[in-house]
This record gives sequence, structure tokens and C-alpha cells, in this order.
Amino acid sequence: MKKQSPNSSRVPVYRDAGFELYDADTMRQVFENENEVPADPDLFIYSRYRNPTVLAAEKKIMKLEECDWALLTQSGMSAIDVALSIFQRGDKSGSWLFFTEIYGGTNSYIDKVLIKGRGLNILRFEPADEKYDMPGFEKILREESPELVYCELISNPLLIVADIEKIIELSHSYGAKVIIDNTFATPYLINPLKLGADLVIHSATKYLGGHGNITAGVICGNDEELRKEATNYRKFIGHMLSADDAYRLTTQMESFALRVGQQFYNSIKLASLLEDSDMVERVWFPGLKSHPTNKIAEDLFSEKGYGAIITFDLAGNSKDSKREKRDAFIRNLSGKIMLIPTLGDSHTIIMPVEPVWGYKYPEPGMIRISVGFEETDHLTELISKALEAI
Ligand code: PLP
Repeated sequence: MKKQSPNSSRVPVYRDAGFELYDADTMRQVFENENEVPADPDLFIYSRYRNPTVLAAEKKIMKLEECDWALLTQSGMSAIDVALSIFQRGDKSGSWLFFTEIYGGTNSYIDKVLIKGRGLNILRFEPADEKYDMPGFEKILREESPELVYCELISNPLLIVADIEKIIELSHSYGAKVIIDNTFATPYLINPLKLGADLVIHSATKYLGGHGNITAGVICGNDEELRKEATNYRKFIGHMLSADDAYRLTTQMESFALRVGQQFYNSIKLASLLEDSDMVERVWFPGLKSHPTNKIAEDLFSEKGYGAIITFDLAGNSKDSKREKRDAFIRNLSGKIMLIPTLGDSHTIIMPVEPVWGYKYPEPGMIRISVGFEETDHLTELISKALEAI
């Protein structure tokens, strides 16, 4: 870019809404080229289409996900909207199969937008005994022939790990495309596109941004046709990320591996501490042998970690006693660990499960921890003291 400082070490924040196009011939040429939506245009046109600061952040994500293209959006939900909408074909759309254990907001989007608003035929696949039954999954593929399969690699809040190698292989053998939400596992643990997934999405609000201070999403892929469709859809609907957020995201991603490495390590330590505590009835963490999908997690993640979310249920002989213990545990952490309805933040945060997912998980003793990258001993000490003080 001609106006960039020659010795700036980073692509700066380009806040331009539109870019200078010099003369009529240049203008005609770039608009003609725009139909081909080049990944790395020589000249930018308008920031809702493409923006150099956003492109710099996308290039960083392409390296992390080891893929051919990445498109940033203003939230994880808008990334999901892009990833799904490009497969919609009016009356000709076939059925789409969604795993039930996905983010509540995605489930609401399916109900309110895809089913109620757009009249799409949606199928759902539920886990059995806290794992996904692959013969049952294949039966739906065989009987219903969905065009599209959508799942989260690690579910929330029970942390069920999906055997995506098998899911991708089966889905493709029945002609379905596969979209994976890789928010919880992150590219540190796995690159689903390398295993054959057609698209990967992230809520970059979580581990890619990593500090709870950016709302963003990204769609990643290798297929050129899907890139064109996704770039156009993002442009038409205006789901583009701002240059300011893209700049902050780029710099925060510089510490991505360091951050999540520490978060995953802290989580392993914390999960075994919780499992060993008399105050705790049960722990859900894919790194523990007791988790129903531990073997799948071990195979997929090659011991690099198991994510940074832990869910546990406090021990108690009645619902009332569990509720009291939960409230005491939260009080004991007051001023030290906050209740914030997000995850993937730099500091550890907790969320009681029942007030949020009560319709599904009514156990009042259940708590979800999003583990931060604090110093390990400090964190384990905080949690064990809060448990002891119940
Ligand atoms: N996917 C997952 C797994 C999430 O947890 C969330 C939000 O919590 C989203 C997508 C949506 O992301 P955002 O809040 O950035 O729109």
C-alpha cells in the first residue's frame, strides 16, 4: 500500500470506508476484478468488501488453521450465518443436520432464522450417554440424506468431543458437506480442514482474541467456490469486521499459542484437583479418563491439551444443599474470580450452569469454569481454598 510508512512493522489500521482509485480505467478494472473476489487484491475498493487491516488478520488465521482462505466477520454468529447461508438454494435446499450439543445462540438461530424465517428442513442429532453414537449418525445420513452436517468439535457444557475424522468421512460418503465450529478446541489442538472438513468457523471473541475485549468471528476453508460465495455473502449482508478490531485481533493473536498452551496446561491441573476433591461429585473434562470421550480426545489432540473449559458438579445430598454449596463457592471466590457469561478470556471465569441451561441441566451444583492463563499454582490454590471454605 503506497501510503503505509515504509518501516512500519505491522499493517496499520486503515479506517478508509472507500479507497482512492485514481482514474476511470482503474475504477472499471477493479470493479471488473471484484467479480472474481481476489483474496489479495492489488487495489482495495470499499471496506465492506475487503480491507487491508482485516486481510492482515485473516492471513494470520490462515497460518493457524493451515488453510487457503479465512474471512473475518463482526461476531461468531455472523460467521455462522455466512457459513450456512451460502449453502441455501431457495426451494431447492435439501435438509441440514445439526448436532444438538452446540452453542445456545446457534440453536436459537436455527429455530428462529433457519426454520421459522427461512423454512429450511432441519434435522437434529442428539448424543447418547454423553457421547455421539456413530451408527446412529450413519443411520440419519442413510435415511435422510442431508446436504450439510454441522457440529462443534468440543460441546458445551459437557465437553463431548466429536470424532470428527469419522463424522467427516461418513458425511462425505453420503454426499454431505461438513462445517465444524472449532472455537473450543482451537487450531492449537486441531485443524479440521486438514481432516477434510469443508468449512471451519470460530467465535474469535474467544481464544483467537483471547482477552474478552473483541467480538469477532471467522470462516475458514480451502474450496475456491466456497470462498467466492462466502466473500460475496459477507459483502452483500455487511458482516465485515472493522479495521480497528482486526488490528487488535492481529496483535492479540501474536500470543495465541503461548496463551492457549498455558490455559490448556492449567486446565489439566485444575481438572485433576477437582476430581480429587471430596467436595466435588463429578467433573467433565475430556482430558480425564472418566470422561466418556477421553479416548477420542486423546486420539484427536495427540496430548497437546484438551481445551480450557471444565464443568463440575458439587457434592451434596439434596438440590438445596448443592445450591447452597454452589453459592458459597461463588462467594468464596468473590473479588478473585468473576462470573462472566463468556469464555476463552485471559483470566479464569466461572458460570453456574443451572441459571443458564436449567431447562437441560437442572443440577444446581454444576459450575462451568473457563480457565485463564494465570500462573498455575496461584490458580489451583484459589480454587482449592474456595472448595475447602464451602
Ligand atoms: N460458537 C461457539 C462455540 C460459541 O460458544 C459462541 C458464543 O459463545 C459462538 C459460536 C458465537 O460467537 P459470538 O458470541 O462471537 O457471536
